[in-house]
Amino acid sequence: MTEKDPLIQPPPYGPPPPQNPGYLYPPQPVPAPAPQVVNILPTSFGESSVACVCPNCHKHVTTEVNFVVGTLTILISLIIFLLICWPCFWIPCVIDSLKDVEHRCPNCKWLIGKHKRL
Ligand SMILES: [Zn+2]
Repeated sequence: MTEKDPLIQPPPYGPPPPQNPGYLYPPQPVPAPAPQVVNILPTSFGESSVACVCPNCHKHVTTEVNFVVGTLTILISLIIFLLICWPCFWIPCVIDSLKDVEHRCPNCKWLIGKHKRL
């Protein structure tokens, strides 16, 4: 292959576009930044429902509260079982004020936050 081969040579281009050195393009409008979805989550969850934006479905919701057995519940049950009266070990498992609190999205059931007693 040589430089003179007409099959390999690039096709002839037209004359270069005229340069306009004195012409300045108008400044391009800067696109506005896309609005960001800010997940406004409370810093701490308590025992009552909280209004926030769900991080999963991005809807403004009031959390659904569920009481679940947590560390404090098990610890008190163990103390009752070992030291006080073993047949009564289950009592802390039915007292909501000894349980952890889960905050879930009522729309998608996503766990948004949790309030732990311990
Ligand atoms: Zn959700």
